[in-house]
Amino acid sequence: FAPWDDPDQKPLIRFRNVTKKFGEFVAIDNLTLDIYEREFFALLGPSGCGKTTMMRMLAGFETPTSGQIELNGQNIAPVPPNKRAVNMMFQSYALFPHLTVWDNIAFGLKREGMEAGKLKARVEEMLRLTRLERFAKRKPHQISGGQRQRVALARSLAKAPTLLLLDEPLGALDAKLRQDTQFELMDIQEKTGTTFVIVTHDQEEAMTVASRVAVMDEGRIMQVATPDRIYEMPNSVYVADFIGDVNIIEGRATPLEEGQVRIDWAEAQPPLFATTSARFDAGQTCYLAIRPEKILITADQPQSNDNALRGKVVDIAYLGNLSTYHVALADGTIIKAQTANTRRIARRTFTWEDEVWLSWTATAGVLLDR
Ligand code: ATP
Repeated sequence: FAPWDDPDQKPLIRFRNVTKKFGEFVAIDNLTLDIYEREFFALLGPSGCGKTTMMRMLAGFETPTSGQIELNGQNIAPVPPNKRAVNMMFQSYALFPHLTVWDNIAFGLKREGMEAGKLKARVEEMLRLTRLERFAKRKPHQISGGQRQRVALARSLAKAPTLLLLDEPLGALDAKLRQDTQFELMDIQEKTGTTFVIVTHDQEEAMTVASRVAVMDEGRIMQVATPDRIYEMPNSVYVADFIGDVNIIEGRATPLEEGQVRIDWAEAQPPLFATTSARFDAGQTCYLAIRPEKILITADQPQSNDNALRGKVVDIAYLGNLSTYHVALADGTIIKAQTANTRRIARRTFTWEDEVWLSWTATAGVLLDR
C-alpha cells in the first residue's frame, strides 16, 4: 500500500499552496500536500504549528487565505461543512449526555432522515465495528472513557464519510488504554476503508497508526514520509530531533570518494566518517544524526574501522527492555547509547564512572546540512 509512489494515483485530498493567515499571523505558510484514499495520515508537530488549522480547513470551519484545497479533484471552498463528505471527531468526544449510546450513534442518521430499517442496520453495524453492542442502552456517564471514545468514533463513522478527521482522539486516555486503542483505530480504519487524518503531538502515536506522517513546524511541512523513513532518513535536524531520541554531532565536512564524508570534530580522534548521497562542500558545517540504538557500547576499543569515541558513563536509564547510557566525552558532550536487554545476548552491562567506547558504522547515521 503505497499510492504516493504511484504516479497514476490521484490524491483524495490536495492542498495547493495553501496559506492561512489570522490577521497578520501566518498559521499555514504556502503549504502543498497530497493525501490518498485509504490512508491513515498523521499531522505531527509541536503546539501551535498549525495542525488543527489544517483540519479545520478540511472540515470547512476555516477557509484558506490563499491557495486551494481539493477533495477528489474538486475545489472544496464553496462546499459548506455539512455538505462535505468529511466528518470530524473532537478530543472532547462531544457526546449527548442525555442520549443512550445507541441514540448517540443514530443521531446524525435520524437528522438526515434515514429510513428506520436501514438506520437500525447501520447503527448495529457501527456497534459491532466498535465492539459496543453490550453498551447500546447505556448513557455516556455509565461507560468508561475508552468506551466513550469508541462511541464518538462509531458516531463519526455512521454516515460513512469519505474522510474522517481525528483531533487528538486519544488525548484523554491513559497510556495503556491509549496503546490498545491505537491498534483498534487501525483495525477500524482498515475495515471501513475510510481515509483517516489524525492530529497528534505524540510522535509514538503517529508512528504506530499512520501510513505516512507529516512533520510540521510553524505552518510548514518539514517532511512527509512513511514512519520508518521519517525515523531512519530524517531530512533535517528538526525532524531527526522531533522523532525519537537522537545524538546530533556538529562538525566540518570533507567530501571523499564514493559518498564518504570525513567529519572533523574536536572530540573525535581520529575523525568520524559517514556515508551519504547528499553533497557537501569542503569545510561546510554538517550535522551527524545518530540514534542511540545504533551506537555500540563496549569496554574495549573496537578493532574495526568504525567511528569510535571514548567516554565515561554518567547516567543510566533502565527501561526493562532497553537501557540508555549517557556517556560524557572529555569536553562534557553527552552521547546517548542504547542497548537492548535481550536474553539471548549476554551483554556486559556498565555502571556509573565506567570508561567505555562508543562505536558505529559509517552508514549508521544520517548526515544533514541543517
Ligand atoms: P495544538 O497542538 O496546541 O492544538 P496546533 O498545531 O493545532 O496546536 P493551531 O490550532 O492550528 O495549532 O494554531 C496554529 C497557530 O495559529 C497558533 O499560533 C494559533 O495561536 C493561531 N491561531 C489559530 N486559530 C486562530 C484564530 N482564530 N485567531 C488567531 N490565531 C489563531
